[in-house]
Amino acid sequence: MTRKYLIAGNWKMHTTPTESRTLAAAIAEKNIFLKPPPSVQTLICPPYTSIYTALEAVSGSGVQIGAQDCHSEAKGAFTGEIAPNMVKASGCSHVILGHSERRQYFGETNAMLNKKIRAALAEGLIPIYCVGETLIERQQEQTVGVVRSQLVDGLKDISLQTASQLVIAYEPVWAIGTGLAATAEQAQEVHAAIRSFLAEILGDISADILILYGGSLKPENADEILSKPDVNGGLIGGASLQADSFAAIIAAACKLAVS
Ligand code: PEP
Repeated sequence: MTRKYLIAGNWKMHTTPTESRTLAAAIAEKNIFLKPPPSVQTLICPPYTSIYTALEAVSGSGVQIGAQDCHSEAKGAFTGEIAPNMVKASGCSHVILGHSERRQYFGETNAMLNKKIRAALAEGLIPIYCVGETLIERQQEQTVGVVRSQLVDGLKDISLQTASQLVIAYEPVWAIGTGLAATAEQAQEVHAAIRSFLAEILGDISADILILYGGSLKPENADEILSKPDVNGGLIGGASLQADSFAAIIAAACKLAVS
């Protein structure tokens, strides 16, 4: 069976439009060289202010562009916010929602994220919904329970017609930006649990949902983590800011997809 992968870069609050153009163009060039099969998708999520220049720079390369967040309302007096239809109309295919930095520094809750996920899906945007436990939660053996409630609450009442579009990113908080990735076995264990929770919540369509791993994914550990049966790609922070390291992860997915 063909393995499906999504290799997604989260540039966080890095890169001006000019820097984005250079980095996106370098990634585009490498993606063209790698010629990923249709089962391997490549995505970069620059800051809002660089969406336009990144889109121009990746044109014709197969690289897609996503946003790092959006609001749940379509319009209104929400100074500083960006609506899902604005993200979509800017040329984005995906939107990251519920990244642990948004949960930690901006107080985003599962209930707020549920509204954002439903609004994004209604606009035809693919949400990449991030879930994952903190170090203390892992030490207290609460990982599976935390992830379960993030999924149950975050995916409440989502339309089954659009739910197969959804992407989940399992990102253990202790592994993000620390250099300390989960082992491939730890990732697989939680991904398998996520797969079964999705089946409980969404039924048969859950089999189509891509589950990405995120947290210090890099060329050195990509082969091993991406080879696990319930891992369908990665959400990559640090290593997506260098075209060489991001391309090496795309290359690992390409190899596994056809093996
Ligand atoms: C992230 O920000 O989603 C992430 C996984 O970061 P890093 O790869 O740097 O750990």
